[in-house]
Parts: sequence; C-alpha cells; structure tokens
Amino acid sequence: MLPYARQSVDESDVAAVARAVTDPYLTTGPAVTRFEADLAGWTGGNPAVAVTSGTAALHTAYAAAGVGPGQDVVTTPFTFVATAATAALLGARVVFADVEEATGCLDPAAAAAAVTPRTTVVTAVDYAGAPADMDALRQVADGAGALLLEDAAHSIGTTWRGRPVGALADLTTLSFFATKNLTTAEGGAVVSTSPDLLARAAGFRNHGLVRDPARQRWPDEGPWHQEVHSFGLNYRLPDVLCALGSSQLRRLPAFIARRAELSARYDAALADVAEVTLPSRPHDADVAWHLYPARVPEEARRALFEHLRAAGVGVQVNYVPAHWHPVFADLGYRRGEFPVAERWYRQELSLPLFVGLGDADVDRVCDLVRGFFSG
Ligand SMILES: *Cc1c(COP(=O)(O)O)cnc(C)c1O
Repeated sequence: MLPYARQSVDESDVAAVARAVTDPYLTTGPAVTRFEADLAGWTGGNPAVAVTSGTAALHTAYAAAGVGPGQDVVTTPFTFVATAATAALLGARVVFADVEEATGCLDPAAAAAAVTPRTTVVTAVDYAGAPADMDALRQVADGAGALLLEDAAHSIGTTWRGRPVGALADLTTLSFFATKNLTTAEGGAVVSTSPDLLARAAGFRNHGLVRDPARQRWPDEGPWHQEVHSFGLNYRLPDVLCALGSSQLRRLPAFIARRAELSARYDAALADVAEVTLPSRPHDADVAWHLYPARVPEEARRALFEHLRAAGVGVQVNYVPAHWHPVFADLGYRRGEFPVAERWYRQELSLPLFVGLGDADVDRVCDLVRGFFSG
C-alpha cells in the first residue's frame, strides 16, 4: 500500500533523539528552548512556545487570547475540527464563514459579514499550505477589534507577499503530527508577534504557574514558592521530541523543495485529465505544499477514492466540513449553510504527497486517475 503521507526520519534525526534521550533533561530542558529558537528562524523572528500538538497549540492560543463564554470566534468550516473545537471548549460560540473558491481558505468577505461586537478572534486556516488572504483578513479582524489567528498546521515555510507564516497574524499555530511537513511524532507550537500574548501562551502551557517573585502575590512565602493566577494545563513538549523537531527543521528546506517538485509533477501529469481540477497556485505566495488537493466531479469522487484504495494507493479526503460533525449539528449548525466549503468537500481528493514519494509513484497514481476517467 502506498501511504497518503509518511514522515521522513533519517540518521541525523535518529542521532539527535538518541543524544536527547540520554541527556539529564528529558523535559523542560535546553532542547525545548533551542527548538523554539530554531522555529523563530522560520517565522520572521517571532518567538514560539512549543506544545504537545497542533490541537494543544490552538487551545493555548485561544486561551492566550482570553477566549471564553459570551464571545464569538469566526472561522472556516473547511478544516480539521480542532480549529473550531478548541474555541468551543473554552465556551465561545463558533461562527463559521464560507471559504474562497480558488484556495479553500476563509473568505474575507464572508468573515466580514460574520463578525459582530462579540467577535474576539478571527481564525484562518492555510488550507493545503497555501495562505489565506491575510491582508484582507487583517482588515476584517482590526475592524472588529478582534485578534487574527492563523492555523498554520499545513503551512510552516510558506511566505505571503514576502512575509513568512508566523509574521502574518497575532497568533499562529503549528502542528508537528506525523503527517505534517515536519514532525515530532506529536507536537505543535504557538507563535506570536505580541510578547504579552506569547507570555500568556507560555503560562497556559505550564499550569499557569508564576515563578517570578516580582509577579507573585505572596513572594515572601519562600524560595520554593510558585503560584497560579489563571488556570492552565500541562502541554509541555518534552526535550526528546524538541530535539527531533530541531533536526527536522534543518531538513525542512529539502522537504519543501521535494514537495514542490512532486506537486508540480502531479500538475503536469494530470493537466490533460479534463475531469480533474488542479490546485490553484496563488501568485503572491511561495507555498510549502502540505496536501495535493485535487478536485473531481462530486458524483465520481467516492468511486475514484475506492478505485485508488483498491489499487493500493492511500488517498484521503480533507476535510469533512467542521459544522457537519454531530457535535456542531446538535448546536444548530446545518448542512447547506456554507456552499463553497461543502462543494470543496464533495469534490476533494488528496493524492499521496510526502518526501519519500517517488516520481514513479506519482506517475502510477496519475495513470490510475486517468484510467478511471477514460475507462
Ligand atoms: C493537523 C491539524 C490540526 C491539529 O494538529 P494535531 O497536531 O494533529 O493536534 C489542526 N488544524 C489543522 C488544519 C490540521 O491539519
């Protein structure tokens, strides 16, 4: 079976993990700080707080933004459910807004129509790696007095109008899950352009513990004293995984280059298959591609999915619209409310895309797709 995604782990990664696992610090040690500094090299220098997953990063970012009951979070339904679920868990109302036809990313006009005085965060998702229209979304967020959050689980390394992901939003979240563009097995990070938001994220990741006597209410308690001023969780990414992350970051330029090559190979090989709509290539962005999201006629999508799976090709559908999940349906969200996102979902088929995929694999997948439509 050709997988749809697979991590790339080489000897340099193995050596980095082997060193880290015998270090005195397994967690909360120097490899964490090092990984966070290495990440900042990708985000225009904006600092990062490493956490245990992309989902934890979203939860932490919303907590840092002060999201809670009585507030609205405006976001796209065309995403993995965690983008919305983490805001709902904090008690906010999730207000979905439709996506753009070309990119599948949050439509600034739809977001502008969805914001209210209760909106405190507007959350975009860089679908497949291509950036949302961050300049227009910045205007929408500023106009509403809301923070702009970018779920960049797909897009570390992407630049938009010359600026890197991590420098485009008030808060940016990353995922290092095994299928993503770099991996720490499970892991994620929050990046922020605001020192205040970043400090709040760092606090939430570590139980909200305050160790600095200057900030404590009862600093005279003793040298062991630490106190909690607001609730948090343990979302700390251990040193062993941070060491893997730093090693993977050194390889990220090569990962991005190979993904771009493979993506271009799909484009070329599928260009003459009339039924397939290729991913659009935004010209004001330099995209680190995470997915290869082909679109096919919706009446053919399921049969093509089964045809490819039966031929041993791992394909995937990204994503079931978030508002279709029963947990949101039970809150009153209805199918048909977001027609562009729902059409994207009905037509979408992610073809295998990962660093170890061979040119011949791409050609075989494309032959199978062509054969399906001509057969
Ligand atoms: C993967 C992903 C997440 C969640 O990240 P995990 O590390 O799996 O928790 C969130 N949003 C999007 C768009 C993702 O692709």
